Amino acid sequence: MARGVGSGFGLSDLPRIAYGRGSYLYDQAGNAYLDGSGGPAVFCLGHAHPEVNSAIAAQLDSIAYAYRYLFTSAALESLSEAVLRLAGGCFKDVLYSADGSEAVESALKIALQYFAARGLMKKRRFIARHRSWHGNTLGALSVSGFAARRRAFEGSLLDVIFVSAANAYRPPRDCEPDALVEYLAAELEGSILEAGPETVAAFIYEPIVGAAGGVVPAPPGYAAAVAAVCRKYDVLVIADEVMCGAGRSGTWRALEHDGVAPDIMTVAKGLAGGYIPLGATLVAPQVAAPISSDHGAYMTGHTFSGHTAACAAALAVQRIIERDRLLERVRQVGASFQESVRRSLARFEEVGDVRGRGFFIGVEFVRDRKTRVPFAADRGLSFDIGQRAFADGLICYPCSGNVDGITGDTIILAPPYNARDAELEEIIVKLTRAVSGALAAG
Ligand code: PMP
Repeated sequence: MARGVGSGFGLSDLPRIAYGRGSYLYDQAGNAYLDGSGGPAVFCLGHAHPEVNSAIAAQLDSIAYAYRYLFTSAALESLSEAVLRLAGGCFKDVLYSADGSEAVESALKIALQYFAARGLMKKRRFIARHRSWHGNTLGALSVSGFAARRRAFEGSLLDVIFVSAANAYRPPRDCEPDALVEYLAAELEGSILEAGPETVAAFIYEPIVGAAGGVVPAPPGYAAAVAAVCRKYDVLVIADEVMCGAGRSGTWRALEHDGVAPDIMTVAKGLAGGYIPLGATLVAPQVAAPISSDHGAYMTGHTFSGHTAACAAALAVQRIIERDRLLERVRQVGASFQESVRRSLARFEEVGDVRGRGFFIGVEFVRDRKTRVPFAADRGLSFDIGQRAFADGLICYPCSGNVDGITGDTIILAPPYNARDAELEEIIVKLTRAVSGALAAG
């Protein structure tokens, strides 16, 4: 172990990384770690992919970055074409950023700019959901329903309206189990009406909740139902696919599965697969049109927006995924992988739920399977499991707070799309061992 020096993260005693190859990382002490969650669902092609690295090197050899507002580039143009096509043709523009929070920030601002361009300056408010995560910048944090991460900043956040999470395992208390979609659509409509439709700009949600829920896909019919409510009141839909998009769930857009296209969408983690930071905000033609005719350009953007080498990295990542038909693999193998995880963990009474889609799987732990009561927060069960797995050479993603912002323990699995069958098996064996060890420890 080497001490992390001056990281600013308050972390110490972290192993010092040496290199990565495929689905494995190696530290300087010679320990191997299987990447079972891509960190937080980032590394969709594993590590040190030679084709991605040579695409980046080739770009660096010509130019690392030509400032976006002075030059376009082949990498940026080809990536935009690819992204618009992979997203199914429902968007017109792609705006790049350096990460997921910036992509969300741009999405929120584009929604406001859209209504400004239409002269509807009262439409300023956002509706978001409890148990959600959209990022760490002030705007993105404002729309995030994550109590523990908001607490230190309360008082300076935007005045956002929150509605219930769409979670079939933990539905709202007064909701009949088979009426969840109707309940949530009615709640959203009620919130819009209460605020006044003339004041609401957009509804933002994660089609599959990531860190704040432990992989929670919305129930069938939810995406279409909330889109219909929003359309009725001239409210834009922002789908935050920073974590679940770019193929993670088996379709390039998670909402493709639901047959729904949002007005604005964000994507980041799997876009360039962690080779270079990159996020993007996709804008539908009906939102782009008034902005283009009234303002001429989007009023969002940063110094490094559309960084050339980052675009070259993402283009290589996306081309390899397409060429090697990796989303087919994620769809097909994802279902059996999830079933194997479920089977392997079934003997633990404390495993309440195994869920997800594609290579995006969540395991939720409960003190009692029947009542679904969570463990006390100070037990730190998910982090205990995560640490045991890490010590055993498996990276998984422990999350807490999915029940009420404080309690709740989940583990996310999100392996690279090209992880081999034997690697997927190793993930299950090591996770099962970590769960067993943590639960035996009490
Ligand atoms: N949206 C979602 C759904 C996320 O999962 C995250 C990151 N976990 C973000 C936004 C923020 O992305 P970043 O950490 O890259 O700023």
